[in-house]
Amino acid sequence: MSSDIRNVIIIGSGPAGHTAGIYAARANLKPLMFEGLVKGGVPGGQLMITNDVENYPGFPEKVTGPDLMKAFRGQSEVQGVEIVSDDVVAVDLSKRPFKVVVGDDKKEHFARTLIIATGAQAKWLGLESEAALQGKGVSACAVCDGAFFRNQDVIVVGGGDTAMEESMYLSGLCKSVTLIHRREEFRASRTMQDRVMKNPKIKVLYNAVIDEVLDVSKGEVTGARIRNVKTKETMDVPATGFFVAIGHTPNTDLFTGQLDLHDNGYIRTKPGSTYTSVPGVFACGDVQDFTYRQAVTAAGTGCMAALDAERWMAIHDPH
Ligand code: NAP
Repeated sequence: MSSDIRNVIIIGSGPAGHTAGIYAARANLKPLMFEGLVKGGVPGGQLMITNDVENYPGFPEKVTGPDLMKAFRGQSEVQGVEIVSDDVVAVDLSKRPFKVVVGDDKKEHFARTLIIATGAQAKWLGLESEAALQGKGVSACAVCDGAFFRNQDVIVVGGGDTAMEESMYLSGLCKSVTLIHRREEFRASRTMQDRVMKNPKIKVLYNAVIDEVLDVSKGEVTGARIRNVKTKETMDVPATGFFVAIGHTPNTDLFTGQLDLHDNGYIRTKPGSTYTSVPGVFACGDVQDFTYRQAVTAAGTGCMAALDAERWMAIHDPH
């Protein structure tokens, strides 16, 4: 075992991970953070695929998600968080110090406390045609891929804030956006819905589900076959881009069987804290939050996790 046992290892580098890092560093805990590459796509979490952020306090002029994350990361570095860009591939939470296995060479790191801030990632519809055409017109990130569909017709699927946001963003680039939702009412906030409804480039189709993304035989997206759930009628909607915006799945694969999870896969934390079912392991941000899921709430719980870890260590593992 390495003699270098860290006080705190933080897995994840979104708003929650960085806030935990900043607080832990300022408490002189010398935190080590792993920012994943494969699982998260890009370090920085969901904000890296968010365009304008208008609701993060402190930015009266809007800030882009990537710029906000750059600021978070910069502040972590200034405060002394050691950031390593590599994927955690396994953890052992069965005994302390906790083991964190990293990268292709499976390097082992050990920690007195662990802060999990691995976030959540986009959900897919689960259609074969959707999988076959990923990267060939099917995407879950308008900000990443929208520019490929400049002046073209695109489809967005979903009825939440993400679907509204993706539709608005794409309407600025594309010829038309058809927003397809499976019910008659959106789940999105009223403000976001209103923006969409007022946008002449966005057409909404309600009560419609996707039967197939077209056209696998051509190796590119040419549209989608949709079905009205009330009339059962089907029709083809032409488009060259197909954006799925139906929510997120928590990144908890590493912890399955080792931590208590909710039925929906999110990590279960003790109410009012970031304590998980394993003493010394704390969870913050979207990986444990299916209610608020905001950058600011993620940052708030990141702060809580660092304070919880510091106080837990002072009582249970002083050194
Ligand atoms: P969400 O609120 O869970 O909405 C997911 C949407 O996708 C729902 O309308 C759902 O339909 C639909 N859906 C789910 N599975 C589907 C399937 N298999 N086929 C077709 N449709 C499906 O997820 P979200 O929009 O990603 O938002 C998540 C959270 O982040 C929310 O709290 C939201 O407010 C927040 N958010 C905020 C902002 C912002 O403030 N700028 C931006 C993005 C997200 P049903 O409605 O029928 O269930």
